[in-house]
Amino acid sequence: MKTKLGLLYGGKSAEHEVSMQTALAVIKALDLAKFDIYPIYITKDGSWINGPKLTGPAENVEALTFSPGKSSSPLALQAHSTDENSESTGYDVIFPLLHGPNGEDGTVQGMLELLNLPYVGNGVLASSAGMDKVIMKNIFAQAGLPQVKYTWFIRSEWEKNTESAIKKVSDELGYPCFVKPANLGSSVGISKCNDADELEKAVVEAFQFDRKVIIEEGVVAREIEFGILGNDEPSCSVAGEIIPKKDFAFYDYSAKYVDGNSAMVIPAEITESEYAALSEMAITAFKSLDCSGLVRADFFLTHEGQIYINEVNTMPGFTPFSMFPLLWKHTGVDYPALIETLVKLALERHQEKQ
Ligand code: ADP
Ligand code: MG
Ligand code: MG
Repeated sequence: MKTKLGLLYGGKSAEHEVSMQTALAVIKALDLAKFDIYPIYITKDGSWINGPKLTGPAENVEALTFSPGKSSSPLALQAHSTDENSESTGYDVIFPLLHGPNGEDGTVQGMLELLNLPYVGNGVLASSAGMDKVIMKNIFAQAGLPQVKYTWFIRSEWEKNTESAIKKVSDELGYPCFVKPANLGSSVGISKCNDADELEKAVVEAFQFDRKVIIEEGVVAREIEFGILGNDEPSCSVAGEIIPKKDFAFYDYSAKYVDGNSAMVIPAEITESEYAALSEMAITAFKSLDCSGLVRADFFLTHEGQIYINEVNTMPGFTPFSMFPLLWKHTGVDYPALIETLVKLALERHQEKQ
């Protein structure tokens, strides 16, 4: 029996286009002898549309966009999954390929829970805790993971006592510091500040995106990332490094991948003991947020050898050229095998809950 897989993509977030490209690549990688693929397209204005079962790989993203019909809300999914007369009577599993708010933050996951549908990736708790950098850091602190110093403010607090808030940041964190909206990703709204004036501007900017802002001590460090895959007994991939383009020319080893602004080096050139320490922390981070399926865990490694966890991403970039799939490719799990593993993990987790 084939697995009926509902592929959920598009969405209202800024990462709509990335999601479309990811959907295209995932469809291409899925074995149609094993899977029936049902597209579920979320338009940029938030309408949900069930597309017809795919009969072959889609040629381009246009083939994956549909016009809103009568069912254009998330409930379309429920109607589709229970309609006896529908071409498909129920999905076996949903694969959400969505990033950011309303996709990666537990909202879609909560809806899938209510519909009792198995789905790929993190559950409600890990998704929402992972989306909020303050909550995530508080949990990491409790798990004993090393982190840079940080503090946070909600908008009303900051506006009421701006002067004392600036003084607190200057005294406790110093400069440079990083200002970030608590609830976004993809570096949106993030600024590096070298003094109090820049700090004040950056916080105003970050409050455009969220009512909560986190401020961190800035570090000069390499950025090392890991892919974690699994449920109760997660495994860790080889390490990867993100190298900002300006330094790129100095690296001539390993597999190198370039996107717009940076290069990825896989495997990262770190020592065995650094790998051991970092990968253990990556697994601790995964477990501390009660993650399942997949996570990309991102670290800072200073030139003095000090390690800090930066963040985890509960739905990391997932095109075949993104860090997470490439890390697993180098660990021996290629893109089609990775997708099948994630589906298997989703079904296992669902089974365990019943
Ligand atoms: P996002 O979730 O948007 O990826 P990050 O917290 O990972 O946000 O920050 C984006 C980037 O900003 C990081 O990859 C890193 O290059 C830089 N950065 C963030 N925080 C710090 C910090 N405390 N010190 C130095 N660089 C930082
Ligand atoms: Mg992030
Ligand atoms: Mg990041």
